[in-house]
Parts: sequence; C-alpha cells; structure tokens
Amino acid sequence: MRLSELKIGEKAIVVKVLGRGAFRKRIIEMGFVRGQEVIAELNAPLRDPIKFKIMDYEVSLRRSEANLIEVVTEEETSSVVYPTSHGTTTEESTYAHAAEVRAKTINIALVGNPNCGKTSLFNVASGANEHVGNYSGVTVDAKAGHFDYKGYRINIFDLPGTYSLSTYTPEELYVRRYLNTEMPDVIVNVVVASNLERNLYLTTELIDMDYSMVVALNMYDELQKSGAKLDYKLLGDMVGVPMVPTVSRTGKGIDELFDTVIDVYERRNKSVRHVHVNHGPVIEAAVNDIKERLRTSHVALKYSPRYLALKMLEGDKEVMEMVSDSENFEELKALSNKLRAEIEQTLHEDIEQAVANEKYGFISGALQETFQQGKDDERNLTRVIDSLVTNKVVGIPIFVILMCLMFEATFVLGAYPMEWIETGVAMLSSWLHDVMSPGPLKDLLIDGIIGGVGGVIVFLPNILILYLFISFMEDSGYMARAAFIMDKAMHKIGLHGKSFIPLVMGFGCNVPAIMATRSIESRSSRLITILINPFISCSARLPVYILFIGTFFPKHVGWAFIILYLSGIAVAFITAKLLRRFYFKEDETPFVMELPPYRIPTFKATCRHMWNKAEQYLRKMGGIILVASVIVWALSYYPRTDIEGEMTPQQLAEQQTNSYMGQIGQAISPVLEPLGFNWKISVALISGTAAKELIVSTLGVLYAGGDDTPETLSAKLQQPDPSTGVADFTPLIAATFLIFVSLYVPCIASITAVAKEAGSWKWGLFSVLYNTLIAWLCAFIVFRIGLLFM
Ligand code: GDP
Ligand code: MG
Repeated sequence: MRLSELKIGEKAIVVKVLGRGAFRKRIIEMGFVRGQEVIAELNAPLRDPIKFKIMDYEVSLRRSEANLIEVVTEEETSSVVYPTSHGTTTEESTYAHAAEVRAKTINIALVGNPNCGKTSLFNVASGANEHVGNYSGVTVDAKAGHFDYKGYRINIFDLPGTYSLSTYTPEELYVRRYLNTEMPDVIVNVVVASNLERNLYLTTELIDMDYSMVVALNMYDELQKSGAKLDYKLLGDMVGVPMVPTVSRTGKGIDELFDTVIDVYERRNKSVRHVHVNHGPVIEAAVNDIKERLRTSHVALKYSPRYLALKMLEGDKEVMEMVSDSENFEELKALSNKLRAEIEQTLHEDIEQAVANEKYGFISGALQETFQQGKDDERNLTRVIDSLVTNKVVGIPIFVILMCLMFEATFVLGAYPMEWIETGVAMLSSWLHDVMSPGPLKDLLIDGIIGGVGGVIVFLPNILILYLFISFMEDSGYMARAAFIMDKAMHKIGLHGKSFIPLVMGFGCNVPAIMATRSIESRSSRLITILINPFISCSARLPVYILFIGTFFPKHVGWAFIILYLSGIAVAFITAKLLRRFYFKEDETPFVMELPPYRIPTFKATCRHMWNKAEQYLRKMGGIILVASVIVWALSYYPRTDIEGEMTPQQLAEQQTNSYMGQIGQAISPVLEPLGFNWKISVALISGTAAKELIVSTLGVLYAGGDDTPETLSAKLQQPDPSTGVADFTPLIAATFLIFVSLYVPCIASITAVAKEAGSWKWGLFSVLYNTLIAWLCAFIVFRIGLLFM
C-alpha cells in the first residue's frame, strides 16, 4: 500500500519511493529508504499534511507526496504468506522480508504506437491470450498480467496504442492519466525498429516526462530482413534510454528486455540519464522562464518541471489542471500565454508544430549517426500490393469481391459441418426419445434443452468461418486499406474512413465493434459510428437468416443475404446522415490513418483468435442460451392441463396458446399483428433481445412437440397450424420477419456497450426506441407491398 493510506499510529516498512528526480532524491535524503520503519503520527486538521516518524525524527509530508511512497504494514505481512528462503520465523524478520519481497515487484507499462506489437509482447511475456491485430485500435483498455522472472514478480500492463501524449484522442488521455496516477516503475516503450523516424516521436515525449524507461526495438526481424543496420547501443546512449532488440511475435530478445528492465529498476544501467530534447533557443528560453517559477509548486516535485513548463506553453488543459493548485497559478498562466503568443509570432508557426518539428529534428539527428537504410524489400512489396488494393479503379471492386467471397465461404463451406452437427443433434434427441419414460423431465431435455441449444449450436461452423476471414483481414493489415479506400464514401455520410473498421467488425459482433470506435478522434463521429453499428448484421443474427432463407427462399440464397445485409447498411448510412444533419453540427477531423506494412499472420495467432471466438460462443451456449431456453420452455409448458397419454396436435396447440408464454405473446401481438406475426413469433422476438441467437432457439422450443412432426425446425416452420389449417410462416411473413430481425432492438450486451461508450444511458435508450421503430416501419412497408402482389 501507499504511505498515505497508513492510519494514525500504524507502523510500516518502506518498500520503495516512486516518482522521479529531485522529489525522489529529497524523500530518500529524509530517510525513506527500503527497509526503514515509519509510523504515522498526526493528521493536520484538513487531513493534510501528515506527520510521520522515521529514523527517530519527525517529518511532515503532504498526502500527495506520501502517496508516492510504497510501504508494507505488519497486517499485510501476516495476511500474505511470503516464502522465506532461510527459514527464519521471528516476527521481525518476516516483516522485513515482506518488504524485501515487495521491493522485488516491478510494475511495467507497455507504451507505444498502435500496431507496434505491444499486445504480442504482453502475450509472450505473460503467457496471456490477448487479441493481436494489424491496425490501430485493438487494445481498448489496459490489460494486466504478471509473471515471475529471476526472482522478481513482474506486473505488466498493456496500454492502448498512441502516437503521442497530447490529449487529442481518448487513448492518449487514457495513457497519460495512467502514467501520471499509477506511476509504473519502468515504462517499456515499444517501437517498430524498421520505422524509427515516426515511432521515436512518442519516445521523445516520454523522455520529456522523465520516467524510468527501456525501449524495446520490436520487429527487429523486419529491420534485419530489409538489410538495414542500427547501432542501437549508441542510439540508446545518445538519448539516455537503453534499447533492446526484440521480436515479440516469436519471443526473441524478451529475456534481454526484462534483464534490462531489472537493471534500470535497480538503477544499475549505465545508459540511463535524463536527456533534454532541445527545442531551439526561442522555446528553450520560454521553458526556462516558466520552469523557474514552477519550482515552488509542489506538483513540480512529482512531475518533471521541464515537462510541465513545455506543456503549459502549449496550453495543455490537463497540465493546466495539474498545476492549478499552486499559489502562483494565475501568474504562471498569464506568463505562459504571453510567451506562447511571442513564440508564435517569432517562429511564424503555432507552438505545437514548432515543438514537433524540433522533436523530429532531434530524432533524425540521432538516426543520422546510428542508422543505415537497407534495400527494403518488404516495403516494396507493400507498395506493390497497395498500388492494387487502394487503386482508384480496382480498389473497391477488390473489396467487394473479398466481401462476397467471405460470405459465400461462410455459407457454402459452413453447410457441410452444419449438416453433421444437425444430424448429431437429431440423433441425440431421437435416442433420448426412445430411452426415456414420458414426463416433464423428458420434455425439458428434448424440447427445452436440445431444441433450444441444439438449434443454435449448428451454426458454430459458419460463425467460425466468418471470424476466420475477419481476423485475417485485421491481422494482415488489409482492414486498414479497406478503411482507406472507403474514406471518400464515408465522408458522404459525414464520417471518415476510420469509422469503417468498426462497421466491418460489426459483422462479427457489435460489442467489440462499438468498443473499437475509441480510436476515432472526433466525438460526434464516434457517437454516430456507435449508434449505427447495431444495424450491421452481427453473426448472432446469422442463424435466423440461414434458417429462414434456407427454408423459404432456397433458390435465392445469395440474393436474400445480399438484400438483408445491404438493407442494414443502407439504414445505418441513412441514420448517420440524419444524425449529422439534425443533431451533430458538422465537425470534420482530417483523415489520419496509417497503412501498416502487410504482415502474414502466424498460423498460431489465427488459430488462437478463432479459438477465442469459439470459446466465447460455446460459453454463451452453456450460459444465457441454455438458461433462456429452459425458461422459454417452462413458460410455454405451464400451466398444464392433465391429459392422459400423448396429446393430439389440437390439444397441443391449445395448451401452448394457454401457456404463460402464449399469454405474453398475445399481450404484445397487437403491435406485431400488422406485420403478420403470430404470438409465437412475438415471443421469439422478445427473447431475442437477450441475445439474437435466442430467436432460433425459442422457435425451436415453441415449435417442438408433437410426435408426428418432422425432425428439423425448418420443416416444422412450414407445417400448417393444426388449429387454423394454415402455416404460421408464408414466404412473405418470413421476409418481413427477416427484415424486422435484421433491424430491431440491439441485444442487451450491445445496448450496454452503446450506453457505456457513448457515455450515457440516454443513447442506449435511443438505440432501443429508434431501432425498433425503424424495424417496424421497414417490416410494415415490406409486408404491405408484398400483400399487394400476393
Ligand atoms: P499492438 O497494437 O501494439 O498491440 O500490436 P499487436 O501486438 O496487435 O501486433 C500488431 C501486428 O504486428 C500483428 O500482426 C503481429 O503479428 C505483428 N508483430 C508483432 N510483433 C512482431 C515482431 O516482432 N515481428 C514481426 N514481423 N511482426 C510482429
Ligand atoms: Mg494491442
């Protein structure tokens, strides 16, 4: 825990002092060194500062300063059993030993550009299975992992990718706040070795912030393959940060990386020093001016004054906020505003630009001496492929063909394993039918569980194939190109290319797709992308499509799918356009999307990706779908009239209509009757709000039953209803139903994602109402027009 959390009268042992430079030095000089005992003595009236006793004299620290000292208390020691190597058991020694163990814990944060291999590094180091993708925006939250290495416990955090640490995007803000509040012991700055010019920009910003740091020169294999040469020792010495070549895809260099991290942590590394990136005489003079006046401010103890000064000159809101409680804040603010105006006038460019230019100058100077360009095969290959797939004439056709191929493969290839699973499920069900004696348990098993879960599990192969394609596009780098070529089309609806990736991801599942919108800088573009995402047909709707199209339009499978997917896309685009016109005033952010070099995804990574999806899907089967199937079954099974022996179809229909489910369905069917839906369909639609797969499993349960009914659900749907003599579904009702399902209310998980990412439940509610209304209107139009022709 931190010293600031120590209660009055409590004792603790100092583990380590976080923070940097002058502050750290002062604290250490006061006696706060590893192994010292400290007692909290007194709280000031406003709980700040706190008086401590250390080495027999008293010191007072502000709460914020005490927060930078990590300690371990006796209580913590006794609650955790630490392994003692020497077997001593006296209280004193376990106590000290605990502090020792805690001091051997290193918190590491991975910081780097999007797509530089942070998550791959995180995975090889910690043995975790996070998703790796070849475009920006895959890691949306910090992921934590840990492992033991050479007697150290290493906690590792995978942060979202950023190009810089301004506060332009949510990711940048997130990373900066994370570094400022969590204060990791060592930052591992992951850079792409073959693209140092750009990647080192972030490094220069981290250098300004003056954290303990190691640079991982990742993708070193690519640098070597291109024939380039880099004197990374010299480069590290020049910028004051040790550099280690790594290949995080294979794990090469990872041990050396963590050896270096430990050296830096223990302050044994010779390369480490704090280098000032020179910003030219005009800016430097201003920085010094502000820095002088910051000295007295206590934030300057915690953060590098040079960094604070630079950011104040840039007018950075976050830093302004951080220094706002220093006494001379008003003076500082006025001064930095004045200096900024002067600088901009002298340099004829705005200060951020000037700072960036100087940083790039610093980088290119450092690389001049240490880097030798190779012949660059890889980049040539990328250029050749790009000239094709981003070509004005053939780029879009290639994309369309790939999409068609994706859906074609999903259905055609998926049909075989689907048939096997279907046969298996039918066999299991008829076997149970033969061996079990009649009763509610048998009905529950066959109609409730196998009818519900079995009806959905057959679509697992299709979903896997779809995910295989999407993950291949993500991992190879093609997805970034797709965004690039769609930029113009996206501009037409007031969005830009970056919004395109979440939309394509939506074909898999809307939830991660909605989270992937975090890489979009403009808030209004982000909100629009979030809100239109549920109109993109996710894979959970696939079972409904496959079932109904296969049953009612077997001759026009291709067209039916295209129409369904396109109508979803059309509604999404129209919605975007409406939102842009009436709700969000125009705000265009320039298109800033990188085109990463193509990378053939490793077989292992692709398999891992697929397995993650399969696992999620199976878990959903065992969880929500199983439970919901049983509930739907019970609600349609009870209340029960006692009938001896098997029911006639007539009795069965009557029983179902009178069941609880029948009552619910009838209650809402006035709303859905204009669309030609009966109560069973209404019930299926309601249960689909929990998860779209449930539509099929609910129909499976409701249309189960009866001995002389056919084996497959598809055949059951076409059977005439015994009480009315006509089938519940005609091709027209099926078409109306499909349109409705493709558009209506997002599933609960998506609604939650919308609300969370948009920052308010208002938008979640909007999604529910708007989508259902649109679905109803579209379905109504289809149904009425259809009736005219029947
Ligand atoms: P992140 O965005 O920084 O988390 O990057 P990822 O870990 O998702 O990786 C982005 C892409 O780079 C993936 O396609 C990885 O397979 C690939 N990659 C990661 N590390 C290496 C490496 O050391 N060498 C090569 N050749 N590719 C790598
Ligand atoms: Mg990542």
